[in-house]
Amino acid sequence: MNYRDTMKINAAGHLEIGGCDCVELARQYGTPLYVMDEEYVRSVCRAFKQTIEKTYGSGNMAYASKAFSCKAIYNVMKQEKTFIDVVSGGEIYTAASVGFDMSGAFFHGNNKTDGELELAMRTGVGTIVIDAADDAERIDTLARRFERVQNVLVRVNPGVEAHTHSYIQTAKVDSKFGFSVSSGAATAAIKDVLSRKNLHFSGLHCHIGSQIFDRSAFALAVDVMTDYMRELAGEGIEVETLNMGGGFGVHYTEEDPKYNVDEYCDYVSLLTRTLCECVERKNLKKPFFVIEPGRAVVGEAGVTLYSVGAVKDIPGVRKYVAVDGGMTDNIRPALYEAKYEAILANRANDEAKEKVSIAGKCCESGDIIIKDICLPEAKRGDLIAVFTTGAYCYSMASNYNRNAVPPVVFVRGGKSGYAVKPQTYEDIARLDAIPQTE
Ligand SMILES: *Cc1c(COP(=O)(O)O)cnc(C)c1O
Repeated sequence: MNYRDTMKINAAGHLEIGGCDCVELARQYGTPLYVMDEEYVRSVCRAFKQTIEKTYGSGNMAYASKAFSCKAIYNVMKQEKTFIDVVSGGEIYTAASVGFDMSGAFFHGNNKTDGELELAMRTGVGTIVIDAADDAERIDTLARRFERVQNVLVRVNPGVEAHTHSYIQTAKVDSKFGFSVSSGAATAAIKDVLSRKNLHFSGLHCHIGSQIFDRSAFALAVDVMTDYMRELAGEGIEVETLNMGGGFGVHYTEEDPKYNVDEYCDYVSLLTRTLCECVERKNLKKPFFVIEPGRAVVGEAGVTLYSVGAVKDIPGVRKYVAVDGGMTDNIRPALYEAKYEAILANRANDEAKEKVSIAGKCCESGDIIIKDICLPEAKRGDLIAVFTTGAYCYSMASNYNRNAVPPVVFVRGGKSGYAVKPQTYEDIARLDAIPQTE
């Protein structure tokens, strides 16, 4: 089970996170409930940031905020002095609204709208990542209107495939993201940028996939990217910033390795060592180095608490333990066949002697949070904690079946507080209207 320093089973046999008893949290805030371990988020940020500073020098981590986006998390990043990644107008708006210094934001997307680009200009987004044939032209035109020179990175596709679930791979040649290096499309895009007065070419970006544990994939990507930097240097083009993207793996189930903060430091220092070695061997100017972890920063910080409701036993077939949430707060099992671990958080020391499936309450047979897990015999009112739900759960939540999206509480040092307040039925119906079509 995924217990870290800030997580334990207390004397009452309850799961405790950040010094807060989960049974108490469920009583105070209700279920379903997303619980985020703020100290863990901060410690991973510090590990990434300090490792880059110590082993490389000039660089930073950019938190890929699509993993979990709300005011509170941007506020944490502001305090930890990280950069951020944003991929939409909504993320730009949210980050800017807490006074995040947007010069430290990278704006990504394979299809940025006019409105989003304007918002990026108005809020002073530091770097826009070119990822479409006409991005350079559109951003150049806007930057002229805003009387500025906009920093841009060009997202390239190094053709390195990380070993991961095929649905979430993005660096194959057949991808909607990035310009291919091998076809010459990347160099053409860079030359297009260089020809424009209101754009400044600051460097290269790549992102080779998600949930990657195979460090050699990252090392290979650094090698390929620095080969490409060498090629560009030959044409007199300097890469000031090298952004290697995110994709660092986290522990969901026992099939996944379990990294503590020190191991993330090792992971990052392998990257920086490889980069230092490549820069020296290929006689390059040392670029400013950026990585963009999302999942690794918030994934393991999150736990979802559910109350057990109906239990359906189909003798000889399967026992379903239904909870008061489901695919509306965690779409990943239905979307990617993602796997999770869970415990009975109110009776954590009881023997897990039953194989059951944890079902959601939504009207979809595929709404199963965990298929086949051993738990103590669960009864109505028991509390289930599902681990590693901090990334891509709240951010992908929906109001399917008009279920409310659960609130998010941050816990730290025995204190807890809302990061996202509970949605009411009025909130859900607030934007509904009756069209006058008669
Ligand atoms: C999704 C994404 C990330 C973060 O990926 P994780 O797997 O959450 O670390 C970083 N950069 C880009 C461009 C992305 O699309």
